[in-house]
Amino acid sequence: MEATSMKQQEFTLASVTDLTSSSSSPSSSSPVSATFSRVNEVTELRFHESEFGFDLSSTQLFKLGPLQFMCVSDRSDSIKEDSFSRGVVIKFREEKESKEFCDSFEEWTTNAAGKGSSSLANGTVPDGKSKFDNKIEAASAKMYFHYYGQLLHQQNMLQDYVRTGTYHAAVMENRSDFAGRVVVDVGAGSGILSMFAALAGAKHVYAVEASEMADYARKLIAGNPLLAERITVIKGKIEDIELPEKADVLISEPMGTLLVNERMLETYVIARDRFLSPNGKMFPTVGRIHMAPFSDEFLFVEMANKALFWQQQNYYGVDLTPLYASAHQGYFSQPVVDAFDPRLLVAPPMFHVIDFTKMKEEQFYEIDVPLKFTASVCGRVHGLACWFDVLFDGSTVQRWFTTAPGAPTTHWYQIRCVLSQPIHVMAGQELTGRLHLVAHSAQSYTINLTLSAKMWGPGANQGGILQTSSCKLDLKEPYYRMSQPQVYPVAQETSAQPQDIQIQSDDLEEIELLQQNANAQL
Ligand code: SAH
Repeated sequence: MEATSMKQQEFTLASVTDLTSSSSSPSSSSPVSATFSRVNEVTELRFHESEFGFDLSSTQLFKLGPLQFMCVSDRSDSIKEDSFSRGVVIKFREEKESKEFCDSFEEWTTNAAGKGSSSLANGTVPDGKSKFDNKIEAASAKMYFHYYGQLLHQQNMLQDYVRTGTYHAAVMENRSDFAGRVVVDVGAGSGILSMFAALAGAKHVYAVEASEMADYARKLIAGNPLLAERITVIKGKIEDIELPEKADVLISEPMGTLLVNERMLETYVIARDRFLSPNGKMFPTVGRIHMAPFSDEFLFVEMANKALFWQQQNYYGVDLTPLYASAHQGYFSQPVVDAFDPRLLVAPPMFHVIDFTKMKEEQFYEIDVPLKFTASVCGRVHGLACWFDVLFDGSTVQRWFTTAPGAPTTHWYQIRCVLSQPIHVMAGQELTGRLHLVAHSAQSYTINLTLSAKMWGPGANQGGILQTSSCKLDLKEPYYRMSQPQVYPVAQETSAQPQDIQIQSDDLEEIELLQQNANAQL
């Protein structure tokens, strides 16, 4: 069903509660109606017979639960409320109805943004406020682009030779995909990938970069005159800028921790929809999130011990214990970022595919991964370890870039979600669960993890015990734990004397501190 062809569409709801009215009781008792309509060039959503309508060009819908949603508008058509936001909580009778409503909301909203035209011309920005600004907090975006505006952080990525080397190889061994083609570099940073594309013979490269780094990229590219005449740097957000032509190829490095952190993959697919010609190529093409349960007693004890500080009953005469539980919970809500030994995995990993050529932007808002593993060893499962890889699906060579444990370490390392209640498993036992990622406006995700193991042995089928453990983490607040002794010593360390090792580990800790400070900014 295409909402755009309709004048009006009505839904029945269980209830509507007005958040902005002075009374806290539901403003309507069940059932009530919600009506989408288009009147005098304004697309609106009206509840019941209320005088107030939500102008869909400035309305957002937030999911609170399977049946419950919040609808917020920052513009009002009622004179009294002119300068205030307006919000209601709506409840549905069943999930099917809530899904249908959401689909229609999306269609009517798109229609409102497009002011009724069926499709937008290449480069047209729908409304005064950009798609990026609508979903990302201004404070988060400011910090984010400030971070990438600094050369030291671009250098950090350039010095990840596994990363940059793989991009270089993927471009050079697929010259035929670049030679004579128009390329867009999505989030160009220093402009390195634009220059790789130009080196591979691109006809023209548009290097789009939103941060102040765009000025440095111009300078760097100007200093490489053979390439400069085929590269144009455009300073601005992919969501806002215009390009004079469509691209044959998109190149980008939009991956964050757990692949999706930073929410830049959304920008990558927006670039695809706005600028890539129908049969164009994407470098990278596909991403995969890999997951496996792990056992790491050291890590678990380390995390639990951090909160012990708050167990003191006499800290300068003050009892700290009232905050112990909160501190404990706080530590376990931080995903751990470091490189670990793959021998810590207790089951073969599984993966979740994200196809950059097909995924819709909205599909990144909520990512739900059902988990199922078969333990290959007996032990305590302390959580879920995750990493990612991406595929460059070139016409000549298909190249994978991986951040897996055991593979050469990258600046992404790996990530582990630690459960405060470990789960005991036997070899052969099945572990099930769910990894549920919900995007938030600070360019990251809330991670909800649940792992369960059914009782093992006789009686297991007769409603036996089920061990279940859950945790909620914020991907925006990771615990960088790189000071641990390296599991894979580099070749020159083999002949080290004991005192050398001591000096080395001290040095490592210093580097570590510096790194933590740098990383803490993101
Ligand atoms: N391509 C470079 C930089 C990768 S880091 C390299 O591979 O070395 C990602 C870059 O994308 C950052 O410089 C960041 O500022 C930029 N970026 C992120 N979101 C963007 C957006 N919406 N529009 C334009 N640039 C963006």
